[in-house]
Amino acid sequence: MAIDPVCKMNVNAEKAAAKAEYAGQTYYFCCAACQKTFTAQPEKYVSSAARGHATGGTHHHGHG
Ligand SMILES: [Zn+2]
Repeated sequence: MAIDPVCKMNVNAEKAAAKAEYAGQTYYFCCAACQKTFTAQPEKYVSSAARGHATGGTHHHGHG
């Protein structure tokens, strides 16, 4: 089972409607529209997810 990085849906890798490779990883998508969204800006979807170390999102440094 894989996770569609765009909509975070569970996708069966064997039956995925679409897939794409990025940075040596294969990503699976529920539909071609999600694949298109991903390939347009892959870094937007892979930087905060699936990197083992969950930082990112709403994290800010409190200077000041
Ligand atoms: Zn999707």
